[in-house]
Amino acid sequence: MSDDTNDGGVKQQKLQTPVGIHDLLPDDHEYFTFIKKVVRHRARQAGFKRITTPILENTEVFARGVGDATDIVSKEMYTFEDKGERSLTLKPEGTAGVVRSYIQHGMKEWPQPVQLYYIEPHFRYDKPQKGRYRQFWQIGFEIIGESDPALDAQIIDLANRINEDLGVAHLFSIQLNNIGCPKCRGKYKEDLVNFYIGKERSLCGNCQERLHNNPLRLLDCKSEDCQILAELAPKFDQYRCPECVDFYTKLKGFLDELAIEYVENPKLVRGLDYYTGTVFEFWDKHQGAQNAIGGGGRYDGLIELMGGPPTPGVGYASGIERIILNMKRENVTVPSKDAIHIFVAQLGDDAKRKCLPLMNKLRDRGIKTVGALGKASMKAQLRLADKFNVPYTLIMGITEVREGVIIIRDMAKGQQHTVSMDEVVEKVAALIGEENLDNYSPGEAIY
Ligand SMILES: [Zn+2]
Ligand SMILES: [Zn+2]
Repeated sequence: MSDDTNDGGVKQQKLQTPVGIHDLLPDDHEYFTFIKKVVRHRARQAGFKRITTPILENTEVFARGVGDATDIVSKEMYTFEDKGERSLTLKPEGTAGVVRSYIQHGMKEWPQPVQLYYIEPHFRYDKPQKGRYRQFWQIGFEIIGESDPALDAQIIDLANRINEDLGVAHLFSIQLNNIGCPKCRGKYKEDLVNFYIGKERSLCGNCQERLHNNPLRLLDCKSEDCQILAELAPKFDQYRCPECVDFYTKLKGFLDELAIEYVENPKLVRGLDYYTGTVFEFWDKHQGAQNAIGGGGRYDGLIELMGGPPTPGVGYASGIERIILNMKRENVTVPSKDAIHIFVAQLGDDAKRKCLPLMNKLRDRGIKTVGALGKASMKAQLRLADKFNVPYTLIMGITEVREGVIIIRDMAKGQQHTVSMDEVVEKVAALIGEENLDNYSPGEAIY
């Protein structure tokens, strides 16, 4: 329907995706598939198991888990009442749901630490911009149940390896900080607020709001005036308690051991309330935080905050759309799994009857096959075969049906030869090459 269709005098608008929400078209899915494969592979190697929490949670999960004072909860959530007047929210981030699940399913009884990963869509009512959408996909990893700087080092290493596999690691620097435990952070927050008292008018509107409910965020505000003040504000380094100093020192030692480069950034705090101790982000080497590709940290207070027993945890999340943007920026190409091997062209009902089961046999052999099953002329079918960019076309007309044969046409050379129907599948498989066939093996199920 065109947008100027008149319907009783009312102009109909063209239907489109909501603002900031996009389709994932087949071209992007080639990247998507590749990224998912890398993530699953690296996750399995390191003993992570996959979890999928629901897209909808009770709003309380995020209010408690992410924190009322954060931008996410106060400004960016899609929250609505269902017909039973329950407040539900489309999940804006992954960790709160995983922690809710950890508590709900008694994962404390599983062997610790519990290592989980996810690949899922999330939703935030954020200002849409390049690579930032209101529905966006994230990959994430959580290690719950133990607190040790070696685990933090392991999760940073895993994130870094995934970025390496995807060909984008060299674009990003690992920014690292330790924002302390409730013990040392409390005193720091107090002094930080005191520093800003009397300077409120120099702060941006957001920071004036944050000053009393989330003062750490003032350190990483992007507004120029706020940045100047942040430079002068007291630094956390002097406030870290001996335990936090020890944890941070050990983490840096482990990262050195793994030959992972990082930049110590005392102003890095992360936007979420629940972080304690280690925080890290992958920043664009040129654009800094503006084009961060992912980040994470330790959240030792979160499980208790959400009603579970005191349990430490550390996690990482990264945005798939942003990864794709950077892969394209670097001209990283991924194998196209969608490319078609064979086009089947046929004329007449008898040929069509023979071609339908043949197409199944080709597909079962791992040969990606399409056919023109409409009523187009042979010439039109061959033009279509060209558009699919297939290396070979199989052609069956009335004569071929009668003789039990089929023509194999090499599209690049324009040459063709005839083979018997009994041999065609293996002949084609040999032409395509065993290594290029799309065979899958899900492993064996036992009944
Ligand atoms: Zn501390
Ligand atoms: Zn600000």
